[in-house]
Amino acid sequence: SPAQSHATSVTVARGDGIGPEIMDASLAMLQAAGAALAIEEIEVGEKVYKAGFTSGLTDDAWASIRRTKLLYKAPITTPYGGGYKSLNVTIRTGLGLFANVRPVRAYAPYIRTHHPAMDLVIVRENEEDLYTGIEHRQTDEVVQCLKLLSRPGSERVIRYAFDFARLSGRKKVTCMVKDNIMKLTDGMFHQVFREIAAEYPEIATDHMIVDIGAAKMAVNPERFDVVVTPNLYGDIISDIAAEVAGSVGLAGSANIGQHGAMFEAVHGSAPDITGKGIANPSGLFLAGVEMLQFAGQGEAAARAYNAWAATIEAGIHTGDMSGPETKQKVGTKDFTAAVIARMGEGP
Ligand code: ATP
Ligand code: MG
Repeated sequence: SPAQSHATSVTVARGDGIGPEIMDASLAMLQAAGAALAIEEIEVGEKVYKAGFTSGLTDDAWASIRRTKLLYKAPITTPYGGGYKSLNVTIRTGLGLFANVRPVRAYAPYIRTHHPAMDLVIVRENEEDLYTGIEHRQTDEVVQCLKLLSRPGSERVIRYAFDFARLSGRKKVTCMVKDNIMKLTDGMFHQVFREIAAEYPEIATDHMIVDIGAAKMAVNPERFDVVVTPNLYGDIISDIAAEVAGSVGLAGSANIGQHGAMFEAVHGSAPDITGKGIANPSGLFLAGVEMLQFAGQGEAAARAYNAWAATIEAGIHTGDMSGPETKQKVGTKDFTAAVIARMGEGP
């Protein structure tokens, strides 16, 4: 059919713990909004590791990801014990995922926060910096970790941040580094930022030393729009921002690469509530909304988001969200049904 010929091919991994419950819910909501998805399902996570695939992926699963170049992934459980390689590292390396994109916003008054106007996006470099894992023992008493930044790596992520700002109608990009101390590495990142900023004259720019930037993020997050930063700082800033917004349970993240992209929730597989029917699908669902936008299905993305927001505003919340604004505390299935019931309504 014509709808199917425009469908986006996507590899779906339902994961471990609450993964299958929230993936089913998320896909139902996205599809009810009109998302055209040609789904290839793969198995990842605990079972795959225990079957002896130490990278967390079978060859078939990997072939699917390479074919679709798009992975929608529920949380997984990495088993304890040695020899298992993090699935996210496997996928990051395989797809060349250079940017982690984390929207962070307040949903006041439905989620409690001191910063109701907060609405920002952190674009974090994802392959370089201190996280390359290059460490040496120099002597018994001296150890060393290599901080590696490349000009092409910096260019890619900074250009992505500006393109993202342009496409999403955002007004300002802030660069956070510590180039007063690390003049070569962070200095280069800042220099590349200046060069690329010149190509986007309609977008305002700002530069902050990361310690001050982190402090501002904690007390005055409304001042930020898009933030671009190297890996380690981005890791820390993302957690500060999510905590200040109070919406970490609702957060999704996008990982953008040269050979593909991956969309997932920020939270884990929550084994403590698995199978109870109470998991909140919002984080994975909102990652799915980002995925639709990325895939050029902006209309379905908007319809899905608006229905979700209308549900939250109606006071229909899962247990983890419940507070003074809650009118109806519901489980995963009823929450999903409530969102789908609002698909026809306007924003
Ligand atoms: P990780 O897998 O990264 O180690 P974690 O164990 O630190 O994660 P999560 O698995 O995210 O954390 O769970 C932390 C707490 O939040 C748990 O009590 C879990 O039940 C709850 N939680 C996580 N995700 C959800 C969700 N989608 N809905 C409801 N509760 C959740
Ligand atoms: Mg966990």
